[in-house]
Amino acid sequence: MAITREGRICSFCSTPGGPGTDVPLIGGLGAQVCRSCVDTFHEILHDEARVASVRATMPWERMSDAEVLATLPQILASAEQNVFFAQEWVEMMRERGITWAEIGRVLGVTRQAAWERFAKKSASKSATA
Ligand SMILES: [Zn+2]
Repeated sequence: MAITREGRICSFCSTPGGPGTDVPLIGGLGAQVCRSCVDTFHEILHDEARVASVRATMPWERMSDAEVLATLPQILASAEQNVFFAQEWVEMMRERGITWAEIGRVLGVTRQAAWERFAKKSASKSATA
């Protein structure tokens, strides 16, 4: 199984991107970021006044109720993307021959707990695929 950026969203603005779109995404550990967010964050991080402004208040303090409501589905889409990525990562590790015991050890759970968390989803996913 190949892990791709197909069907992914920017974890910061939820814009769909990746292959087949004109929104390139880069990322790591399941999070993806689009060029627009990189540019915006880069500008902020290299401007001391803007960094101070951003640190002075939390973003949601400047948002209307409509904006915070509109953000909730984006937060959940990003979280679900990360959970999906973790599932793909475990499947990739299993294809490499990494054992459930090793996966459980790094997660601080038993082999059985690691298997229950990830193997059943893999099996049901492949059964429906
Ligand atoms: Zn973005």
